[in-house]
Amino acid sequence: MEENKYDLIVIGGGPGGYSAAISAAKEGLSVLLFEGGSMGGTCLNEGCIPTKYLLDKAAALEKVRALTEKEIFKEPGLFSFQKIQRGREKVIKKLTDGVRYLLKVNKVTVIHGFASLKEVGKAECGGMLYEAKDIIIATGSESVNIPVAGTEYTIGSAQALALESVPKRLAVIGGGVIGMELASAYCSYGSEVTVLEAMPSLFPTEDKEMISYMEKELTKRGVRILTGRKVKVIEKAGLSRRVFFEGAKPEEIYADAVVLAAGRKPSYKGIDAEKLGLALTEKKEIQVDEHMQTNIPHIYAIGDVIGGYQLAHAAYAEGEAAVSHILGKDRESGLSVMPRCIYTMPAYAAAGLTETKAKEQGTETVKGKFFYSGNGMALAEGAEGFIQVLMEKDTKTTVGIQIVGEGAPELLSFAALAVKNRMTFDEWRQFIVAHPSLSEMIKEAALDCFGMSVHGAVR
Ligand SMILES: Cc1cc2nc3c(=O)[nH]c(=O)nc-3n(C[C@H](O)[C@H](O)[C@H](O)COP(=O)(O)OP(=O)(O)OC[C@H]3O[C@@H](n4cnc5c(N)ncnc54)[C@H](O)[C@@H]3O)c2cc1C
Repeated sequence: MEENKYDLIVIGGGPGGYSAAISAAKEGLSVLLFEGGSMGGTCLNEGCIPTKYLLDKAAALEKVRALTEKEIFKEPGLFSFQKIQRGREKVIKKLTDGVRYLLKVNKVTVIHGFASLKEVGKAECGGMLYEAKDIIIATGSESVNIPVAGTEYTIGSAQALALESVPKRLAVIGGGVIGMELASAYCSYGSEVTVLEAMPSLFPTEDKEMISYMEKELTKRGVRILTGRKVKVIEKAGLSRRVFFEGAKPEEIYADAVVLAAGRKPSYKGIDAEKLGLALTEKKEIQVDEHMQTNIPHIYAIGDVIGGYQLAHAAYAEGEAAVSHILGKDRESGLSVMPRCIYTMPAYAAAGLTETKAKEQGTETVKGKFFYSGNGMALAEGAEGFIQVLMEKDTKTTVGIQIVGEGAPELLSFAALAVKNRMTFDEWRQFIVAHPSLSEMIKEAALDCFGMSVHGAVR
């Protein structure tokens, strides 16, 4: 290999970029990875992992509270938020060090700096030119701003995750996944949380009954969720903030911190799409085909920069698809069944079709349901919620599963596999699930599709 010449250059070391770089190196390619910010990208540093760290401690707190209410525990949960934050930092460090180690042992060359893509096969960083036959753009995304006055008085999700104390009153602008997860966590830590969502309902593309259950449970815990409210102005009011918004009528609230979580847009640091001639979608994301190829041969794009699901596991899968294509391998991308999770308390998780989506595409389905209240493990754990399985009526195959309740994201992997393999009703009947476990509920809901659930309510 000539100096500065590689088989593959990857721009961006988030989950998309670093995993694609490692996979390509494992396949024998010489790989150069540029990371200008923190290795591990949004996911490890200010996204998936830090939110889950805060949500996990919040869940523990809720559990202690519930047990104290039942007089099983004697003391309410007293906690140190500073210690929680130090714990969050330690986990981030452990994971980002781990990624650096994996890159090293897989012989991926890493350059810490922002690269700019010059032309096909050429990237520049720190005044040096680097060449490769193929380039993967994995530059991720950044928070969007909203066109109202006073957003300088708000904080982003990254800052919200790193607060040193719990705000007494927290306003969250945006009731998407990021906003709702932050709202759920801070509510458990004691903030009076108000969520302002411009759309008439939360998560309109997901299962309505389940989202409504989640909304009710969050409201019971104290999260004030105001949908159909457009924020107009944010003002500084002494040490606090005053947020003016409008639904049917003009309203205002005071908060000690205001989080702006109104969505994310592709990051084009170092990528001059126009100059390069890269085709973009209407939403200004990089347009790719099923192999993650852009309109320019040998330039691929993956992860948040291409829009779509904007999830870390989507970025991993897209990286795999790009690397496979670079290697000339005809491998199924596996992108057809994308697990979707909202880690609020209660959590929501889904794979495959919802009932509404099935109807829209003309798939006739039957629905099976199972409630946590009928499951021994759920009762032992004090977990609540319900599960739905959708099967295509004619073929009796699994086309969608939704879960709302404790453990939903963990339960989903098994559910997603059943959807991906279009598991049949007979296969569900023959399938043995460990007892007691929350997983039993998925089988029960599947059997309920055709009236065969043993522990479910008779219908
Ligand atoms: C608060 C929050 C919570 C989230 N929770 C979840 C979750 O629970 N589950 C989930 O699946 N997803 C979650 N996400 C989304 C997830 O983080 C993203 O989908 C994922 O990180 C996208 O990966 P990526 O590799 O495309 O980009 P990123 O992770 O954004 O990484 C891109 C990297 O590229 C670098 N970079 C950019 N331009 C250049 C350049 N020119 N040169 C060198 N380096 C460059 C950046 O510094 C960055 O490190 C969450 C996001 C947020 C904000």
